[in-house]
Amino acid sequence: MRNLLIVSVTALLLVSGCARNAQEKRLQNFITDHVAVIDPLTTETNLAYWDASTTGKPEDYDKLSKLQLEIRRVYSDQNDFALLKEIKESGAVANANLARQLDRLYNAYLTNQIPPDLLEKIVGTDTEVQEKYNTYRGQIDGKEVTMSDIYTIMTAEKDARKSELAWRASKQVGDAIVADLIQLVKLRNQAARKVGFDNYHTMLITTGEQSIAQLDAVFAELDKLTEEPFAKLKNELDIVLAKSFGITPVELRPWHYHDPFFQRTPLVYELDLDAYYKDKDVKELAEKYYASIGLPVDDILARSDLYDRRGKYPHAFGTDIDRHGDVRVLCNLQDTERWAETILHELGHAVYSKHHDPKEPWLFREPAHSFTTEGIAVFFGRLSRNAAWMQSAKGGLGLTDAQRSEVEPVSFKYLQFQQILFVRWATVMYKFEKQLYADPDRDLNNLWWDLVEKYQVVKRPPGPVDAGWASKLHFATAPCYYHNYMLGELFASQLHHYYVHNILKLKSDKLVSYANDKKLGGFLRKKVFGPGAKYHWSEMIERATGEPLNPKYFAEQFVK
Ligand SMILES: [Zn+2]
Repeated sequence: MRNLLIVSVTALLLVSGCARNAQEKRLQNFITDHVAVIDPLTTETNLAYWDASTTGKPEDYDKLSKLQLEIRRVYSDQNDFALLKEIKESGAVANANLARQLDRLYNAYLTNQIPPDLLEKIVGTDTEVQEKYNTYRGQIDGKEVTMSDIYTIMTAEKDARKSELAWRASKQVGDAIVADLIQLVKLRNQAARKVGFDNYHTMLITTGEQSIAQLDAVFAELDKLTEEPFAKLKNELDIVLAKSFGITPVELRPWHYHDPFFQRTPLVYELDLDAYYKDKDVKELAEKYYASIGLPVDDILARSDLYDRRGKYPHAFGTDIDRHGDVRVLCNLQDTERWAETILHELGHAVYSKHHDPKEPWLFREPAHSFTTEGIAVFFGRLSRNAAWMQSAKGGLGLTDAQRSEVEPVSFKYLQFQQILFVRWATVMYKFEKQLYADPDRDLNNLWWDLVEKYQVVKRPPGPVDAGWASKLHFATAPCYYHNYMLGELFASQLHHYYVHNILKLKSDKLVSYANDKKLGGFLRKKVFGPGAKYHWSEMIERATGEPLNPKYFAEQFVK
């Protein structure tokens, strides 16, 4: 009896071992075939995106959208998805590397299992929203204005009525596109329900390897940590702003905050950071700095497109063309603080991609998550306002001690206020979008202002409220993504804290700019860049810093 039992258990083990092996083999074959198609196609698409962005030519944009469609076609293949689903549900893939690749492939295919007619409607509505958005011009007293006119009026104007008109002009596009946008939300929800999710928001969060519960918890904690310090900073700001408009703080309305959404700190404290960057070559500053931390970027810069040109994309990005070392950045550099921040930021994305371990499988040669590469980018981007960095010889601006002490308190105040304000603003975006997809038919206009009043403490305008919220382009073009900017900030602060206290073994981060610290490059390559997406983002962060993502370090750095 006893012997028989042992025999049958062994037989069972053998069978399941074989089955496992067979499924792993099937998966490995699938991956090999898949990469043979997707690797060159991705490179071609990235090159087309690069060409379109640098030339602005319609034929380059056409080529790009054709290639993007081809990629979508790969991931919408029903037979491939059925195979992946079967392998996943068999539970037979034990090898950790294969299981991780399976998870990533499965999610990529899952979000693309949309019936062709529904997909066509989604793409059509999406394009319509974007075209309307891009061609719409708000009006002031019947005259069309551009967004830069609006910013100029909102930041420089002392006449509250003119500011109000400019602010209202920035919102008009909201009413013009809101019906299409809500239609798009409903179509996206339909697609999500087809593959078993409550709505599109839940689908994107889940297939992005995050959870609503986890994000709710992060934002609840951030709310607790920032509520009081934000109230204090904002009271101070309200006094300054009210005075500048000749009104009392209780009379302040959304148009007095220098930005259509009050997502940036008004520049009302006395310090002109641009003065320090004038006549400095920000490209050279960044190049020297990155070399000094053991992450040289001369190869990246040589392939990059750095200066303003007609037809060229006017903002900035970093891109990994081929996952084989061809990494580039696009900028429109000027020697100002903003562009110093931008090039440090984009090169952060670039060094992350450049150093993915080439020995890892193709599917791992990308960041652990889009928020982790955002985190590395802001980790470096923050330096442009860091007085110690501005002083440091290599890469810095060579400030004297006296200049540094002059810059330090004001630049820190801006940085601190900006970070705390960003928490409040990102919370509005996250909570609103969650509700938008949960119930697109509710009274969204009032929901928006309820959230703005609660988290940003800005009073709604008098009278009935319009769909000004829909003028935030992210709802259409980067849906359910905004929280990742916030998580990126948290990751940057956690890395900063870990490196300062556990590697440099310092008690305080005062005067830390990492300049000339070659160890930093080695640390980041080994712990963050090299593994790429080999580990779930949460595991990568724990391996790099000894604990899972924790908002406490962000609070420690900025909420003092
Ligand atoms: Zn970025």
